Amino acid sequence: MKASVALQTKLIFQLNRFYNYLHRKVNGFSQKTRTFAVRVQGIPHRVKIKIISFLGTPRPVFRTFPRHLAIVAFSPLPNHFQHAIAVTISRFLNELFYSIRYVEATDVPATFHAKNVRERKRGTRDFRLRGTNTFYGFGRQMEEITPADIVLAYTEEPIFSNTYKKAEFLFGEANRILDSSIISLAPLREEFYGRTQNNRLLLERVLKESLHELGHQILYSIDHCLDPSCVMNFSREVGDVDRKRLAFCPDCLEKIGLLHARFNL
Ligand SMILES: [Zn+2]
Ligand SMILES: [Zn+2]
Repeated sequence: MKASVALQTKLIFQLNRFYNYLHRKVNGFSQKTRTFAVRVQGIPHRVKIKIISFLGTPRPVFRTFPRHLAIVAFSPLPNHFQHAIAVTISRFLNELFYSIRYVEATDVPATFHAKNVRERKRGTRDFRLRGTNTFYGFGRQMEEITPADIVLAYTEEPIFSNTYKKAEFLFGEANRILDSSIISLAPLREEFYGRTQNNRLLLERVLKESLHELGHQILYSIDHCLDPSCVMNFSREVGDVDRKRLAFCPDCLEKIGLLHARFNL
């Protein structure tokens, strides 16, 4: 009966693997836990973060407003960038948020989702791109230290989409299920295209992309506006970002107005 015990163990192991596979398929995501050092409004904390990857189709969830917004910087943002982002969001979407907090999550271990990377060449330069799922699922884990139920995250690194596999060097992506979005500064920089550094232009682009991704999150839609001057218009190239205004068109403003009406803001 020795052989049958070994066989049984093997079978149980395989069944377990299959069970786990099904469990992940049914629940639509897998989770890993990592501990991070973060700074909330300049004060250091440690926080456990569940890194969530989607495997299935996301399900819609009902959302309410106002909410607490966290600006999560995976690469530190200059002070005037932090300020300009908060001012821009307040200017256009003030009533939708109780608070806007700045959280720095720069002390990220090297193993941070190490597998979710791609190596790509652009011209003569080598780039390491991170998958967008790496940056989601942050907000809910910070509840103990700071209220944050919607996250706008920033990284200096180039990114690729884990949802639309062919999309690389994205400016940003929103994940409405996890109430998070990520903005990548790399392709918003003039240097990325071999041109002279221009910080004023970079800030303008960062602000437009911030409003764009937050727009997807609050309107709970990945639809893009057809008005080429509207901030919710899709940008394929950096020139498209420059063509847009830092403002919502009347149609998009109306949609935001409906949110105000629904939540009595
Ligand atoms: Zn978009
Ligand atoms: Zn619009």
